[in-house]
Amino acid sequence: MRKIAILDGYIDEPTCLGVPPYISPYPRYIAGAIRLHDKKNIVNYLTIDQVRKYPENISHLAQNDLVIVIAGMSVPGRYLAGYPASPNELKRILESLPVKKVLTGPAAKHGFGMQGGKKTKNTDFLKKIFQLIIPGDAETVIYNYLENNLRPYEINTEEKRKNSSQIRAYANLGSSIVKNHPNYPDYLICEIETYRGCPRTIIGGCSFCSEPSKGLPDFRPINDIIEEIKCLYNNGIRHFRIGSQPCIFSYQSKEAGKKEFPKPNPEALEELFSKIRKVAPDLKTLHIDNANPGVIARYPDQSEKIAKTIIKYHTSGDVAAMGVESTDPVVIKQNNLKADRQQIMSAIKLLNKVGKKTGKNGMPELLPGLNFVFGLKGETKKTYEMNYDFLKDIFKQNLLVRRINLRQIIPIPNTKMEEIGNKIINKNKKHFIRFKKQVKENIEQPMLKKMLPMGSIIRDVYTEKKDGNTVFGRQIGSYPLLIGIPGIKSLHEFIDVKTVDYGFRSITAIPNPLDINTASRQTLEQIPGIGKKRAIKILLNRPFSNKKELSQIFDDPIIYKKIIKYVKI
Ligand code: SF4
Repeated sequence: MRKIAILDGYIDEPTCLGVPPYISPYPRYIAGAIRLHDKKNIVNYLTIDQVRKYPENISHLAQNDLVIVIAGMSVPGRYLAGYPASPNELKRILESLPVKKVLTGPAAKHGFGMQGGKKTKNTDFLKKIFQLIIPGDAETVIYNYLENNLRPYEINTEEKRKNSSQIRAYANLGSSIVKNHPNYPDYLICEIETYRGCPRTIIGGCSFCSEPSKGLPDFRPINDIIEEIKCLYNNGIRHFRIGSQPCIFSYQSKEAGKKEFPKPNPEALEELFSKIRKVAPDLKTLHIDNANPGVIARYPDQSEKIAKTIIKYHTSGDVAAMGVESTDPVVIKQNNLKADRQQIMSAIKLLNKVGKKTGKNGMPELLPGLNFVFGLKGETKKTYEMNYDFLKDIFKQNLLVRRINLRQIIPIPNTKMEEIGNKIINKNKKHFIRFKKQVKENIEQPMLKKMLPMGSIIRDVYTEKKDGNTVFGRQIGSYPLLIGIPGIKSLHEFIDVKTVDYGFRSITAIPNPLDINTASRQTLEQIPGIGKKRAIKILLNRPFSNKKELSQIFDDPIIYKKIIKYVKI
């Protein structure tokens, strides 16, 4: 029997997220491997936030036979609460711990890439802290290590799983560690792996992407995914994202491995999503992640069928994140990208046609998200102009996209962008800054206004972080919208809100319903038409026992009519 700690420093990869409220498959699979080796083994799962908040947990780590650290980002991200562990932080926590330490996750595979536009950090000093760095599949390596009682130098740290069926037992046995996550149960979403590897590996894949290093797609069998979801559901999980793959529309395609753009398999998606609903009938979130616009554009009939299936079984506010990268034909060619401007536009139209309508939680059912990448080969000033023109075109055609993600490449080792590094990023820095500003002011904000007109109700917003007088919250799911709620006190609760104002990538909202007799001045001020003076007048005259009493304090009946839409008496 062994005592093994898993320290979750959080991961962020192009196809997998493990920053709260997400828990990635990494810790779950590793816990399963430890338990499969010996069911008496004790797994102590801790997140980096639990160590930050309670430093005494560092000494608890020391009481284990082994500490396995999961960390690293291979895409730049922005986080609200809970941010990934940095190399220096891990050094500080772990350096003097008298216990064997293992590093795994993207940090072990690619180093610590903290953000685009900067070089991947040198992680050499980590070799002194960790006795074992596992760039392979941690669950497979750790299982072999325990099972065969290997010495560190005997371990093949590069070892990968032979096929996806190998993780079946790990995924099921490790599912109960979700109970040790500080966000459990209400504000925790499980990233579910569907497959790894990209069909475009046969022609080399996109120049900046690490996914082709995983080879051709290895789909998890539908029943394996269902079994895992059943285990997680039985352990109290109610939020799921069917992600951890490059394209959900390509899942279980019979042509994967033969074609760069395999024909989708709508029947498989119907089986997967309908079975999920059977084993997790009261789930609260069921979302997807990535979608390849090149596949959607080439197979519109099958893709439409799949989008409809997703909407039939999912929860609203869902986002299909599409890798656009660039609409400049020169950049597309030089970087072997997956779709041209026309194809991307047709994929956006298809998803709008099927998914634009508002769903139960107040957000559109299913919209595309667009990911652009800058710093690619062939990029010039013209690239920025073309991309901006493309976004303007989307807006003019009254199409919606839920999110526009503009990022600079991280030159990941062993990708074709490694040798180019940050050269192009540095050369085009000023174009990037100007483009970002144009997009947020002229595209993102006006689109938010179209998507959520004033007074729109958004349900089940989790109040996550307080900053000054404003609490920031989000719904649980894929790329949730950031919502600022001024003047409220409630933290770590789910509330419904009503839209009152717009940021560039966020909105301002007030609780719905809003009790006029108890709301704070800061909240009242946000109601359209109130402002500071009228908010004070309300405070001085309350409590109001009926609408008439409220109407009498305003000289202008139009103001009263505006306000009464937002408050309850
Ligand atoms: S299509 Fe390109 S970006 Fe997407 S996973 Fe494949 S190689 Fe990576």
